[in-house]
Amino acid sequence: MLRLTFINENSFIPPLLAEINSSTMKLQSYSLHNYRNLPQVNNLTEEQIEAIEVVGNVLPFKTNNYVVNELINWNKIGNDPMFKLTFPQKGMLKEEHYDLMKSVLRSNASRDEIKNTANIIRNELNPHPAGQMEHNVPQINGEKIIGMQHKYRETVLFFPSQGQTCHAYCTFCFRWPQFVGMDELKFATKEALQLRDYVKENKEVTDILFTGGDPMIMKAKIFGTYIIPLLEDKIPNLQTIRIGTKALSYWPYKFISDDDSDELLSILEMAVNKGINVSVMAHFSHPVELETEAVKIAIKKLRAVGVQIRTQSPLLKHINDSPETWSDMWRKQVNLNCIPYYMFLPRDTGAQQYFAVSLEESWNIFRAAYQKVSGVCRTVRGPIMSCTPGKIQVLGVNDVGNEKVFTLRMLQGRNPDWVGRPFFAKYNENTIWIDDLKPAFGDKKFFFESSAPEATESEPGNGTIVL
Ligand SMILES: *Cc1c(COP(=O)(O)O)cnc(C)c1O
Ligand code: SF4
Repeated sequence: MLRLTFINENSFIPPLLAEINSSTMKLQSYSLHNYRNLPQVNNLTEEQIEAIEVVGNVLPFKTNNYVVNELINWNKIGNDPMFKLTFPQKGMLKEEHYDLMKSVLRSNASRDEIKNTANIIRNELNPHPAGQMEHNVPQINGEKIIGMQHKYRETVLFFPSQGQTCHAYCTFCFRWPQFVGMDELKFATKEALQLRDYVKENKEVTDILFTGGDPMIMKAKIFGTYIIPLLEDKIPNLQTIRIGTKALSYWPYKFISDDDSDELLSILEMAVNKGINVSVMAHFSHPVELETEAVKIAIKKLRAVGVQIRTQSPLLKHINDSPETWSDMWRKQVNLNCIPYYMFLPRDTGAQQYFAVSLEESWNIFRAAYQKVSGVCRTVRGPIMSCTPGKIQVLGVNDVGNEKVFTLRMLQGRNPDWVGRPFFAKYNENTIWIDDLKPAFGDKKFFFESSAPEATESEPGNGTIVL
């Protein structure tokens, strides 16, 4: 049978496996309490250690032996994108916040005092970016299904309660409050059957997107308890199961050599065999993450069971803010049979000010990168702000009549009728997020602001946008 020869691992896996750095195959996590055990820490300057301690007490960080040994280049640490992405950096806090935490730490404060200071600072970092938690929570039989979000007609997001953490904590990510124990922020549920019933009842739903945290933190058994009910009685409207994950970049062994790797792959294959499109939405922020033997094998393993891999990342200053980085990344992804999908802009939360580039610069980086690659890489869309009304793509800067404007497009919208609509906003070179945008041509509102009745302006980080 064709399928058998296709998945026959002996055809290509063992010779490649031999090339893997086997010392990193057993997971060892590092965070504030134990990173000093890393021998590489001796390479760090006093300033770098101080930044880790000061910022790390506010924004949590976590990394692991694979990232440390295979992705970070410790010989150019002041300038290494993977180091900056995974270890706290001074610029991630505003100067006054940094100085405050530094003086509290210097004063030999108690754990409680440190924690209180951290929480005061955290509350100023917009821990609830627009509409992430409280909106679009679906109901079944009049009961809210916590752990699910249904914002766009075709797609429900599902946050399995066991997947609420990540291999690393990215400070640009809106999920950081989940990692500091701000528990009420958790979208958590074990209610796999509610998920199934909801998708069954709502025939407009074609896609389920498993997200987190990182759902690929879950053991395969638990992951299976969510997936298998969706397959047992085939739901005709369910077409795609997506899994948003950073595991290919930060822990590819999840798909290779963990205890449950084979079980995980067979669950995914089961869904594929039911005629469902299974897409891993892989978060890759830098070409380095695509270069190890481990990631290449992990990709092959997923592809061999019929899983598609689509890639996405935010555009981040200090990490990937050059066209060459993106064109290189897209080209490498396509060569590994991954499909470039989204380039995001970092949300208005956490260390946004450290990572953000202006809207105009993001467009220039995007188009310069887009120009360097052929059509097979141009499945990517960006730069995109994922915000309350929807996903907004920056198409560019134009002069229309006498006015300089941003041309934007709604790629995904709370109201399906908004999707695909272009619109204009006043140009401002400093704009980094939708809150800063004003309609062009003297208009009072954007089209998506007038058509929703339940206006609230008080939502943190939500600016003038109506929900
Ligand atoms: C991005 C996103 C989706 C998926 O949108 P696609 O355009 O289908 O990739 C679904 N729900 C939410 C809340 C999202 O942000
Ligand atoms: S969900 Fe993704 S971006 Fe957010 S902390 Fe986890 S790995 Fe980073």
